[in-house]
Amino acid sequence: MTVLRSGVATDVGRARDSNEDRAAAGDTLFAVADGMGGHVGGEVAARLAIDTLQGAYDRNPTVAGLREAFVAANAAIWEKSLEVEQLRGMGTTLTAAGLTVGSDGRDVMCLANVGDSRAYLMSGGLVRQITADHSLAEERVRHGEMTEAEAEVHPHRHILTRALGVSPEVDVDLWELHVHTGDRLLLCSDGLTNEVSVAQIGQVLESVRDPRKAARALVDRANAHGGSDNITVVVVDVLVGEDASREPSEVARVPVPGTVNVPPAVPPGDPQMPTRTHPGGDPITAVVPAVGGGQGPTAQRPSGEAFVASPSSVQTLPPREYRSEPRLAPPPRETRAERRRRLGIPRRITLRVVLFFLLVLAVPAGAVAVVHWYAMDNWYVAIDHGDLAVYQGRQGGFLGFEPRLLDRSGVTTTEVLPRRLAALRATVDEPSLRAGEQYIANLHQEFVTQQNAAPTGGGG
Ligand code: MN
Repeated sequence: MTVLRSGVATDVGRARDSNEDRAAAGDTLFAVADGMGGHVGGEVAARLAIDTLQGAYDRNPTVAGLREAFVAANAAIWEKSLEVEQLRGMGTTLTAAGLTVGSDGRDVMCLANVGDSRAYLMSGGLVRQITADHSLAEERVRHGEMTEAEAEVHPHRHILTRALGVSPEVDVDLWELHVHTGDRLLLCSDGLTNEVSVAQIGQVLESVRDPRKAARALVDRANAHGGSDNITVVVVDVLVGEDASREPSEVARVPVPGTVNVPPAVPPGDPQMPTRTHPGGDPITAVVPAVGGGQGPTAQRPSGEAFVASPSSVQTLPPREYRSEPRLAPPPRETRAERRRRLGIPRRITLRVVLFFLLVLAVPAGAVAVVHWYAMDNWYVAIDHGDLAVYQGRQGGFLGFEPRLLDRSGVTTTEVLPRRLAALRATVDEPSLRAGEQYIANLHQEFVTQQNAAPTGGGG
């Protein structure tokens, strides 16, 4: 038997003018969604995520059902974003916990996550972050390319590598939590974790017993530290768990069915992933009641009221559809490409691929540009069918770039001094078209001056 009690608080924060976070706290399902993609898009995405999640999990409240509910929510948002021009590119995070029967027949909290909203479990005096953020900075920390401290201030910390509704498919991270009496589960949007340290979160969770007051206290802390984003907090207390031991509860990562559990390597800066923005706005500090609040006949139950799952109601849950794989032997690591090939997922053109081809093309293109620049960054004066003319290019051409005739001056070889002709036949380089034209004009002027000075018709 498991008895839960929850509290929820959501707030617009002190910098934004709308709240694109949504929360749900029903009897057995709890969730936080942090929408993004513009004013309207963010709200629609978060609302669609919560509504679809509740409907789907209601129909199939199992571990597999929670995953399917995420897939359904992803599809609902993706399809809506294709339908409505204004909603294109919208997405949302979604972190949810559902009470169900685990693979061992005991009650479990099944936890699912996509994005950078988080779940923490306070158990046996320990506060542990269960979820792993799907953000660029956190992925780099996991790959050992960055420290936690660097990630906290990294300009890319708000860029998500996974979100619900931004592509037709979604990978869902899933855990089974065997919760004990006295455990406390926290779901929250990044508006809390960006402002309040884990130590301070733990302090509030430790000291404020009422889950509604704890949720509100955490929102107040975030606002006190600036409240630069929407803040949403769901606190779920395990009043009675199946296990009353004082040991910290077990957390088991649920692998993706039919696959080995390899963290997906998302290319940095995947252009389809939305970036969080932090626009300014009027400070609004009121704590508004949470959206959501349950499913079906129990929807009126106010958050914070105890929910008792009687042993009989737990036993009537559908048979488990999911079997946890033994976690003793670590599965061989396979590359992302291998996994895609095995699952028959068509190869996606990633930013990395595009960059590779750009680079491959850029090298010869750059060489051609340099050759072209060298070949054409020159002008010369030469004789063209008896006329003096200015050419651009290298005389005789250079690596396929032939000189261009720019200006046939109209001055003929008979209108310049004969002693100049040898140089002209050899061609005379000039720094520009204008200099070439000037050179011809000077030669002609020289000729005319000499003609006038020379004695004509015996006069003089
Ligand atoms: Mn946020």
